[in-house]
Amino acid sequence: MTQDKPSASADAATELQLYAIRQKIQPRAVHGVFANWRVALVLLTQALYYGVPWLQWDNRQAILFDLAARKFYIFGLVFWPQDFIYLTGLLILSALALFLFTAVAGRLWCGYACPQTVYTELFMWVENWLEGDHLARRKLDQSPWNLNKLRRRGLKHAVWFAVALWTGFTFVGYFTPIQTLAAETVHASLGPWETFWILFYAFATWGNAGFMREQVCKYMCPYARFQSVMFDSDTLTVTYDSSIGEPRGPRSKKTDYKAAGLGTCVDCNVCVQVCPTGIDIRNGLQYECIGCAACIDGCDQIMDKMGYPRGLIRYTTENVVKGRYPDAGIIRHILRPRTLIYTALLTLIGGAFVYSLATRVPLNVGLVRDRVALSKETDEGMIENVYRLQIINKDARPHRYAIKAEGVEHLQVVTGARDIAAEPLQTLDIPLSLIADPEELKGRSVDVTLTVQAVDDSRIRQDVDTKFFNR
Ligand code: SF4
Ligand code: SF4
Repeated sequence: MTQDKPSASADAATELQLYAIRQKIQPRAVHGVFANWRVALVLLTQALYYGVPWLQWDNRQAILFDLAARKFYIFGLVFWPQDFIYLTGLLILSALALFLFTAVAGRLWCGYACPQTVYTELFMWVENWLEGDHLARRKLDQSPWNLNKLRRRGLKHAVWFAVALWTGFTFVGYFTPIQTLAAETVHASLGPWETFWILFYAFATWGNAGFMREQVCKYMCPYARFQSVMFDSDTLTVTYDSSIGEPRGPRSKKTDYKAAGLGTCVDCNVCVQVCPTGIDIRNGLQYECIGCAACIDGCDQIMDKMGYPRGLIRYTTENVVKGRYPDAGIIRHILRPRTLIYTALLTLIGGAFVYSLATRVPLNVGLVRDRVALSKETDEGMIENVYRLQIINKDARPHRYAIKAEGVEHLQVVTGARDIAAEPLQTLDIPLSLIADPEELKGRSVDVTLTVQAVDDSRIRQDVDTKFFNR
C-alpha cells in the first residue's frame, strides 16, 4: 500500500502556517481580583529582586554568589564548591514544588511569578501609561511616523531600557558586590565582564518583555510543552464553561436569555481582547494559555454588566465541567495519588535538606601524605610520618582548633603552628607529623584517625582516616 503524497497546496498551507508573520497583540487592560493578584506579585517579586542584593549581613552583602572566590553567601551561611549537593537538593525541591503546584492549580507559576510574565506586565504598564489604552496603541502602530509617534515611542523605549538596565545591573549585583558595582558605575570604571553581563541581561529583558512577549511562552519555554503531562482531570485551570455559556450570541440586557434559548456568553470578545497571548479560551485548554486569568476578570465584568452570575470563565477542573462533581468538590479532589506522592517526596526531601543544613559542619579537613618519604626514624629512635594538613574554616566566625590522633598507643601530633586559628573563610595549610614508638606498631602499616576539633564549638569537628607506615 502506498501513502498518498501531500498535495502542493497542503505543503503551501503548512508553510504558510509555520512562517506566518506574528500579529502584534495589544491586550486591553483589565481590572479585577486576579489583576490585583498580578499587581501584588509584580510588586512583591520586584521588591525582592531589586532589594535583596542591597541587604547587609555581618558587614558584607547578605546574598552574594561570588563566582570568582567560589563562595556563595546566604545570610549567615557560606557555601563552598564542596557544598554543591545543597544546590542539587534545592533544584530537586524546586522541581517537585513546581510539579505539585502544577498538578493542583495548573500554570500558577507562568501566570503570576515567571520573570517573563512579570516583566511583560511591567513593560505593559509603561506602554499603557505613555501610549494609552489598547485602541490608542493600535492606532499609533498603524499611523505613519511623525513627531508625535517618534516622541511617544522614544520615551517608551527610554523608560523600558532604563528598567532593563537596572534589571541587568541588579542581576550582576548578585555575583559582584553591588555596592562596589554601584561605585564603579558612578566612576565609569566597570570591568569589561561586568559591562558585558549588565548589557547582555538588559538587552535580554528589553527584547523579551518589550518585543518577544508571548512568543517566549509559545515557542521558547520548554515548560509550556511538558506541563500538560502534569495536568489531570482534577487540575484547576482557567476554563470556559460551555455548559452555561453556549449557545453564545449577542442580546440586549433586557432579553430573557433562557427563554431565548441562549447561554450566558454574549460573544463580546472581551476575553480575547484582554488575553496577552491572543487566544480564545472558549476554544478549550490551549498550550498558549499562561493561566494569567485576565479573561476571568474581563468576563466577570461583562457578567456583572448583564446581571448574570459570575464564573462563566473561572478556575475549575475538567471533571467539574463534565458534571462529575460540583465546584464545591474541587478541594476534596486536591488529595489524589499524584499530589500525595509529590507532597510526600517534597516533605521527605525538604526535611532531609533542612536537617542537613541545620547540622552542617562549617569545617573541611584534608590530609596529604609527604610523598618523598613514607616514614623516617628520628634521632630518638621513634617513627615519624609527615603530612600536610589543610583546614578550611567555612564559618563566618573565627575558630581555634585542637588536633588529636588515635590508632596507636601514645601517638604524638606535632604541627608546624603552635596556635591553629583560622579567620572566617580562611584556609590553613600546616605541616604535620605523627610520631610513634616502634614498639607500639603492629605491622607494616596501621590505620590511624586524625580529629580536628574547634575548641570553642563542640559541634565543629571532623575525622580523617589515614595510614601510619612503619619502617
Ligand atoms: S468575555 Fe465572557 S461573555 Fe464575552 S465573549 Fe468571552 S466568554 Fe463570552
Ligand atoms: S486564555 Fe485567559 S488565562 Fe489564558 S493566557 Fe489568555 S487571558 Fe490568560
